[in-house]
Amino acid sequence: MSYVQEVITNLNKKYSQQPEFIQAVSEVLLSLESTIKQDENFYRKHRVLERLIVPERIIEFKVTWIDDNQNIQVNTGYRIQHSSVLGPYKGGLRFHANVNQSVLKFLAFEQTFKNALTGLPLGGAKGGSDFDPKDKSDTEIMNFCQHYMSELYKYIGPNIDIPAGDIGVGAKEIGYLFGHYKKLTNRFEGVLTSKGLSYGGSLGRTEATGYGVIYMLEEVLKQKNDKIENKVIGVSGSGNVAIHAIEKALELRAKVVTASDSNGWILDNDGIDLGILKEIKLKKRQRLSEYVNHKPSALYFSNNDLWKTPVDVFIPCATQNEVTLDDAIDMVTNKVKLVIEGANMPLTNEAVGYLQSHGVVYVPGKASNSGGVLVSGYEMSQNASKITWSFEEVDSKLREKMIEMVKDMNRVMDPEYPNNYLKAANVLGFKKLAEALISQGV
Ligand code: NDP
Repeated sequence: MSYVQEVITNLNKKYSQQPEFIQAVSEVLLSLESTIKQDENFYRKHRVLERLIVPERIIEFKVTWIDDNQNIQVNTGYRIQHSSVLGPYKGGLRFHANVNQSVLKFLAFEQTFKNALTGLPLGGAKGGSDFDPKDKSDTEIMNFCQHYMSELYKYIGPNIDIPAGDIGVGAKEIGYLFGHYKKLTNRFEGVLTSKGLSYGGSLGRTEATGYGVIYMLEEVLKQKNDKIENKVIGVSGSGNVAIHAIEKALELRAKVVTASDSNGWILDNDGIDLGILKEIKLKKRQRLSEYVNHKPSALYFSNNDLWKTPVDVFIPCATQNEVTLDDAIDMVTNKVKLVIEGANMPLTNEAVGYLQSHGVVYVPGKASNSGGVLVSGYEMSQNASKITWSFEEVDSKLREKMIEMVKDMNRVMDPEYPNNYLKAANVLGFKKLAEALISQGV
């Protein structure tokens, strides 16, 4: 049995209760199989795969808080410090009802590879809680954030572990978390990124992930003598990543026709009106179904048929496993040309395999959504040197880096499979991580 197959078999036995973690790791290992086979004895001797897969530390804790009705609430808080091989732990916090160890372990594992690919000196981590801020008042959110930080602060620091936002953790939550960290430690320091501009945040961080996806899309198309202008694009999600991906796509004269939330999706064949979308989602924090009240010619559906929309490019920006094999079959039937991920692992492994085997260009999130962590890295640099960069400076650095990453992936691309960005991204991350891991001893 090959080393990769042996590790995947053991993984399935040991972590059978953690399907997302198994899925993320298997996807990476299978794409690395031919690379590892070239030096199988060496990697096996050093147990490189096992050492890269198992998180260095898993922190799990109870978060008890009191809601507006004076009821006691109990949630579970986590921080998965996956790898510090390349630098201090870095990765977002997710507050969502479906957060559990498996979800956070997959996200932390992906983050380690993503951070390695960006070239930043950062390790990988992820954290969060099964607390869902959606139906909570501001006081409840603040209350929860403070109790969550009361435990988390023991394990983080600007040179130890630097969390950021993710699903359910936006500017408001980061502010409450930062304020409480400062109170507990008596230190004003860059312990979190995605901070507000008035207290050490970076211009361009809010936009970075969505913009970065579009900069990468633009470059991938350019390498194929194509351009983004006039492309019809289907986006899922309507949160931070989706809205800023839509914004940049519109600026570059593409037409975006869909968006979604966890209740349903909209189809606007005239092209999504960003002003209406921002008003509903960012200003009023309403459900997406409101969109059709502002624009009656658009359609709202509460089914999962978004992926049946005929488009040139899909950009899934909501959550993991939102695109299944059946959806991928629909995409191919409708002649989609390219799928680039804004979310983390939005496609099942079967969906990825189907798209790739049918000639659809697929760009994995660990490359395409890395704009967020890149600008978080820039936020850390600005905090450390106590200077502020302009929006234009941050944005042009982001764009350059997204373009450079496409060129890096092209350099290691298997000539037999010139569109396999998944393998290229994983090989680049793996080689860097393996070398650093072995150099640092057992
Ligand atoms: P937000 O919380 O801002 O938005 C999430 C969006 O996805 C919302 O529209 C939400 O709808 C929808 N969504 C969430 N969970 C589900 C679900 N189970 N089913 C259907 N829809 C769902 O998060 P972000 O935009 O920040 O993150 C989106 C994705 O991008 C995540 O995978 C995240 O890990 C990834 N990402 C984010 C980065 C960042 O900088 N923010 C960086 C890199 C990756 P609803 O409002 O109904 O819940």
